[in-house]
Order: sequence, then structure tokens, then C-alpha cells
Amino acid sequence: MAVGSAISSPLGPASCDKDAKALQFIEETTRNADLVQERVLAEILARNANTEYLKRFNLNGATDRDSFKSKLPMITYEDLQPEIQRIANGDRSPILSAHPISEFLTSSGTSAGERKLMPTIQEELDRRQLLYSLLMPVMNLYVPGLDKGKGLYFLFVKSETKTPGGLLARPVLTSYYKSEHFKTRPYDPYNVYTSPNEAILCPDSFQSMYTQMLCGLIQRNQVLRLGAVFASGLLRAIRFLQLNWTQLVHDLKTGTLNPRITDPVLKETMTRILKPDPEMSNFISKECSKEDWEGILTRIWPNTKYLDVIVTGAMAQYIPTLDYYSGGLPLACTMYASSECYFGLNLNPMCKPSEVSYTIMPNMAYFEFLPHDPNSAGCTTRDSPPKLVDLVDVEVGKEYELVITTYAGLCRYRVGDILRVTGFHNSAPQFHFVRRKNVLLSIDSDKTDEAELQKAVENALQLLKEFNTSVVEYTSFADTKTIPGHYVIYWELLVKDSANSPSEEVLSQCCLAMEESLNSVYRQGRVADNSIGPLEIRVVKNGTFEELMDYAISRGASINQYKVPRCVNFTPIMELLDSRVISTHFSPALPHWTPERKR
Ligand code: AMP
Repeated sequence: MAVGSAISSPLGPASCDKDAKALQFIEETTRNADLVQERVLAEILARNANTEYLKRFNLNGATDRDSFKSKLPMITYEDLQPEIQRIANGDRSPILSAHPISEFLTSSGTSAGERKLMPTIQEELDRRQLLYSLLMPVMNLYVPGLDKGKGLYFLFVKSETKTPGGLLARPVLTSYYKSEHFKTRPYDPYNVYTSPNEAILCPDSFQSMYTQMLCGLIQRNQVLRLGAVFASGLLRAIRFLQLNWTQLVHDLKTGTLNPRITDPVLKETMTRILKPDPEMSNFISKECSKEDWEGILTRIWPNTKYLDVIVTGAMAQYIPTLDYYSGGLPLACTMYASSECYFGLNLNPMCKPSEVSYTIMPNMAYFEFLPHDPNSAGCTTRDSPPKLVDLVDVEVGKEYELVITTYAGLCRYRVGDILRVTGFHNSAPQFHFVRRKNVLLSIDSDKTDEAELQKAVENALQLLKEFNTSVVEYTSFADTKTIPGHYVIYWELLVKDSANSPSEEVLSQCCLAMEESLNSVYRQGRVADNSIGPLEIRVVKNGTFEELMDYAISRGASINQYKVPRCVNFTPIMELLDSRVISTHFSPALPHWTPERKR
């Protein structure tokens, strides 16, 4: 859809000069993708020539692709762990990067149960900001009039810690929201939020969510887009409204603020915004007290044109619930990013979620691609070093694992994301996000792999020993029908002495024991963010897993190669499992979590 009185740009008619410049930038960068990549690599290698890391591989100051590719190995986080630990402990020598490491960004990916620490440098903020600045110009090509209203975005900061050497360690978005880039961003009519900075920056998650929701309600008629980073975050906001609307409408009616808002700066900000509005209060009260919340988002925010949330990858599980609450509003997935590096954006943000492709921006880092065979375990051996493919050389239809070399000093680093090429914009490829490797269960930003789940089951098994009971088989499922979602573990038990079988109390303690052994991102979701509900164990009848095998074999699985799936989500299998459940148990308490890292 074209925008009225527009300025011509290669991607379409831009709505203002600023947009035209951004679109022009996208056009030029993608058209010259290979040249830009060559320049980015040369820049990174030149400035980091004297780092300990590059010297170790005898690059001798070379900045060309061939030398780089022949001398530097592809690595994982674990390979870099010693260097990262030294930086964390206070070694300020140029280990990975010639520019000083300004802080660590804590990834939602974990290593040995703790968030990975990603080194970053000050100027990366400019690169992230640059990518953000491209999003609205692209959106304005498809949705006109976004300068006539505001965005209600639920954005949060999370807790931060310091490493032994004194560097801050915090999530990338916390770092961004607390930066001057965000706090003192110039006014842009296309990018006005209903949430004041004070609400976004309030470290208390209840006060932050409450005031953001209140501001969103006060300005309900101005809201043109609703969002959160991930789909799970927006659903959490809806759940929050369900639980707190009576107090919110009270505040709206009287113009007085909930006494649970105690942060002085936030209180002062809210005093300026909150005025009694009995009519609006009545309206919201009427809508929220209805039994049926179908379409609640469009009833309360009637001018919303789309939901701005990521629903690709693990978040796709939330699409039906979002559709239910929004009456099927378009879902826009605008960007693809990580703590290591921001990668790219969706140039067609109003497309269907299943069709979302991200265009990697060649200026963000040096990108390489490890061909991924969906049918193999993905192992590579020393004898046959894998051949990495350059950004412009990937082939449509093929799958690859993303490997990056960043300005902050990650060199040929495996991100762990599997992407499929869907096409090209000029010479820059566009990717469908297929999945993250080795993730079995995910509700919010937590990622639990098979080994972690196995360890959790083993931990819980300790409690069953005195009952002479073992777990014959297990599988799992991310249940997102509840808000927040929660992990469900199906257990088939072997009770050797039925006179001494584990009680309900013991089985619910097993749930907690499993949670205690899951990684810190999971436990933070449970404890601090309230983004994950209590873990549930469903005990199934004896013989259930044999039936599961029979079912798989009837559908063509080989009897010799059959392995119990450690995670299930195929409806007939779920139905089979659920029809065999004999008891259900929930974690009775929160697991332990503190912001401090174990290592
Ligand atoms: P983190 O390092 O915690 O910021 O997580 C980054 C990871 O989140 C990426 O490597 C992806 O696996 C996932 N991710 C980020 N953006 C998207 C997206 N638009 N769609 C699907 N997954 C995403």
C-alpha cells in the first residue's frame, strides 16, 4: 500500500525525508552486500590485528577473506570460555577486541546452566540503533498514518550484575533501554510510545508493568500498534490486565495511583499523566468484567492496526492465543537479533507469520553460513573441516547454521540458529528462521536442551529412591495454553512396592527438584519475571510409552531405530498421553534464583 504525498525510494514511496534516507541505505547496503561484507571483515581484522586472539592464529595483519578463512577456526562459546573468563575477571589487555569491552551482554542461551556472557564494545550501540532506525521507515511503507498515534509497547529492564573484574553483565535490551541512545532519543512522530521512560526503566517488574498498562489505558484511543519483544511478553501483559484490572479502573476513576507504586520518580511521572476519567474507567471495567476475553485487545484499543511481536521460531506456539485476544490482527515480526549481534530486519513486516523472512544487513558483522543437513546430527569432524559459505553465496531452499565475526571480537562464532534461505533482496539473502539448535523446551526466553531435561529428571529421581520407584520413560511438552505457559513432563513410573508408593507430596517435590536443576534463565523466568508457570508432572499408566512406540511404528518409524521423543507436540500423541494420565502434580514453590552468577 502506498503512502500519500510520498518521496520516491527504491523500496517504495517513503513518507518523509528521514524514511527515504533509511530506505536508500537498505537499498545500497543490500545491493552491494558482498562489497560491504568484504569491507566489514577488513575493518574488523585491521583494528583487531594486535589482539591476542588473532595473533594466536598468525594472521599477521592480513585482512583478506582467504587468509581469514584458512587460518581461523569456527568456534562455539565453550571454546572462548577461558578468554571470556579472563575478561570477566578484569584482564583489560586486548584479548578479543582492540576496543575496550564496555560490558557483557547476558544471552538467554546458557553454558553450564548460566547465561552466556557476550562481550560488547561501546560502538555496538550505534550499530543496534542503526538497525532500529530502519524498522519504522519499512513499516511506514505498509501501514500509513502511524505518525497520528502511539505505540503501546511493554518493555522492561532486568536485573544486572557485575563480573569479578567490575564489568556490568545484563541483557542486551536492558543495556539498550538504559543507554542515552534510548533515553534521550529525539522526538520522532512515527515512534512515540505511551510508556514513559520512567516506567520502562523501573526495575520492579510489577510497578513497571502496572504503570505501562495504566498509561496504555489512559491513551487507549491513540494507540495504533501494540507490542512487546516476544509474543510471550504480550500475553503476559494480557494476563496482568486480567489479574489487575479492578485496581487499574479504580485508579482511572479516581485519578489516584495504586499505593503499590512506590518508586518516587515513577510516582511523580504518573501524577502528571493520571487524571480522573470515570467514563473511560466504566468502559474498561465493562469490557474486562465480561466472561469472554475474545478480541479484548481491539475492544480496549480499537485503533490498533497490528501487533508488533516476534512470533517466529519458538514463539510461533503463541499465534493462536494472540489471534484469539486480538480478533486476528496482523502480527508483525520486524527484526532478528541476538546478544552477540543484531542481524537484520523483515522488509515485508505485514506478511503472514509463516512467510516471515529476515534480510541480514551486511553492515552489522561478517556473516558466514555452515551448510546444515536437516537429516544429519550436524556433526563436523577434524578430518573434513566444514566449508563455510559467504552471505551472498547461500542458495535458496538450503538450510544453514549462522556463523558470525563481530566488531566486538567474536570470530567465526556459531550462534546456534538454523536458517533457511527463501530468496534475496538485491544481493542480500533473506532467511526463514527454522529453529535454534538443541532446544527442547521453551516458554519465554528460556531454552532447555535434552541434557538439561535428563539431568532434571535424574535430580528428581533421587526423591523416589526411598520409595523403590523409578521412572521407566519420560517425555515433555511446553504447555502454552496456560498464561504463563509451563513445562509438562510425562512420567511412566515403575513402583516396585505398591504399599510404599510415592505420595502426592513427594511427586510435587519432584516437580520442584526438576526446576531446581534447570538453567538460570528458566529459574529467572519462574522467580523474577513470572514468565513461566510451575512445572507439572503427569504420571501416565504403565505401558503408555510402549503404546507411543506402537503408534510411531504404525506411522512408519523403524522399530530398530525408535527412540522415545524427549519432547512432543503432535496432537494425536498428546491425546494419547493425556488419555493415559493417572495423576498430575505441580511444583509447590519457586526454585532458587538470584541475579548473581555461579561462575
Ligand atoms: P539472546 O541472545 O538471548 O538475545 O537470544 C537471541 C536468540 O533469540 C537468537 O539467536 C534466536 O535464536 C532468537 N531470536 C531472536 N530474534 C528472533 C526472531 N525474530 N525469530 C526467531 N527467533 C529469534
